[in-house]
Amino acid sequence: MGIIDDSRAVIQPVNKFWYKKKVAALDMLRLDLLHPVVSGNKWFKLRLNMKHAEERGFKTIVTFGGGFSNHLIATAYAAKRFGMASVGIVRGHYDHLTPTLVACKEEGMELIFVSKEDYKNKHEPGWASDLVAHFDELFIIPEGGANEWGREGAGLLKRYINDWYTHIAVSVGTGTTLIGLRDKLNDNQQIMGFVPMKQGAYLKDYIAEHLQPAKNLNWELIDKWHFGGFGKWNNELISFMNEFYGETSIPLDVIYTAKMMYGVHEMLEDNHFSSCDRLLCIHTGGLQGNAGVREGLVY
Ligand SMILES: *Cc1c(COP(=O)(O)O)cnc(C)c1O
Repeated sequence: MGIIDDSRAVIQPVNKFWYKKKVAALDMLRLDLLHPVVSGNKWFKLRLNMKHAEERGFKTIVTFGGGFSNHLIATAYAAKRFGMASVGIVRGHYDHLTPTLVACKEEGMELIFVSKEDYKNKHEPGWASDLVAHFDELFIIPEGGANEWGREGAGLLKRYINDWYTHIAVSVGTGTTLIGLRDKLNDNQQIMGFVPMKQGAYLKDYIAEHLQPAKNLNWELIDKWHFGGFGKWNNELISFMNEFYGETSIPLDVIYTAKMMYGVHEMLEDNHFSSCDRLLCIHTGGLQGNAGVREGLVY
């Protein structure tokens, strides 16, 4: 289990520099510091999956993702450290491999490319195992680590988060991290899930269905700041990332955490919070995805 040192994640005050007077505290949980490759929430979603696979003697980890997927590279890295083979089923075909996919291959992951149409079958029983029939003893992890071990693993993040915080901000992809947190954090803490894509509405049902029934409270999805959709950004977002970095020395990733912090910034400006609120924003990592930004980012 010891491939990542949990103590590397720290809580860093942001409000010292940024919007000091609007709320009583604005801190960031730096999961991005956990590891350069298996960063952020990805390790927490994977760790119980890997433990399970190891205990049951599985030899190959199969998972899914797009060309910039943080989950794919995290899985490739983790599987190698656990002495297992890994296969990544990639959405779409690429003339040139993305930096993420190159890194996956370097970690020994075999990549299988399927069309975007075909990729939609990924939940069908047998679809993935047919594609990877040439490997032995497969353990299939869904896209984004979205299974019960993923949710339970994300719940382990509670070890960093004390009850003093009134609001927890987290970025949402599959919703797995939000669900794990909601299940384990204090009921009174409000969990704000920032959605970096358009049409994130289906997530609401998905999250409600997968929460423990008694825990379906004090969470919300905020989908206003998607910047045109998943994986899209503009100069305004890049400038914001540079400015945030200049003031806090915290690098944000363009896909998830930058959109979340932009939203938090706007909500602070709009006086959405009360001056005694204490916010903890979770930096879920994903900095490797910034390799896809070609211009304007100072870090
Ligand atoms: C994957 C990812 C998320 C989304 O996590 P989910 O558990 O799928 O909701 C958020 N932030 C970063 C940086 C990620 O890589």
